[in-house]
Amino acid sequence: MRIDKLLANMGYGTRKEVKGLLKGGNVRVNGQPEKSPKTHIDPEKDSVTVMGEEVDYREFIYLMMNKPGDLISATEDAHDTTVIDILQPEDLVFEPFPVGRLDKDTEGLLLITNDGKLAHKLTSPKKDVGKTYYAVIQGKVTEEDVSLFTKGVTLDDGYKTKPAELEILSSDEQSEIELTITEGKFHQVKRMFEAVGKKVLYLQRIRMGDLELDPDLDLGEYRELTDEEIDYLL
Ligand code: URA
Repeated sequence: MRIDKLLANMGYGTRKEVKGLLKGGNVRVNGQPEKSPKTHIDPEKDSVTVMGEEVDYREFIYLMMNKPGDLISATEDAHDTTVIDILQPEDLVFEPFPVGRLDKDTEGLLLITNDGKLAHKLTSPKKDVGKTYYAVIQGKVTEEDVSLFTKGVTLDDGYKTKPAELEILSSDEQSEIELTITEGKFHQVKRMFEAVGKKVLYLQRIRMGDLELDPDLDLGEYRELTDEEIDYLL
């Protein structure tokens, strides 16, 4: 990657400002002064310093957000605030996007990254990555529902869902459940419950693969994944 792009990505200013930094002799590559904005850097091998300070360059960013029920999980929207709109400028330089979609009123675990390969792995039904939801359901969820979800239910458009694991946490006029699915059809959890004559009143994603929603994150808060958490997903 060109050194001017790398430094601009890392928040050292616009390409023009970065050019000025280079010209002014403020940048060193592997200890040697570097003035050309065109110089190519291998982020894996080369050490870059700006005014003596090492540039901690990385290509990818991985954020976990506890999505609140009033943000759209998209990069931009003409009417509503998106999950990207609330990110800090230093995170935006990576041009991250949300992995998969949660409905506007769905809360919980949302991964935001610029790692397209990982996003594909997590959302492709072929890769069988489980997404687990906690939900409050109107009506009594029964063992029959568990068995129907295991076999697959037919949604309103005729699609038959892949086997899903339904766990009943409580069952009454309102029930609490956890459901793990490996696909991500539009409104899938809501439509699966519709298929068995029930309504989702509240929906929250709590897990993707082995990655759990951090209980310390309030709604609308986010943080970077730890190296260990990234390893769970890669
Ligand atoms: N299923 C839904 O119905 N909504 C979501 O946001 C996610 C899964």
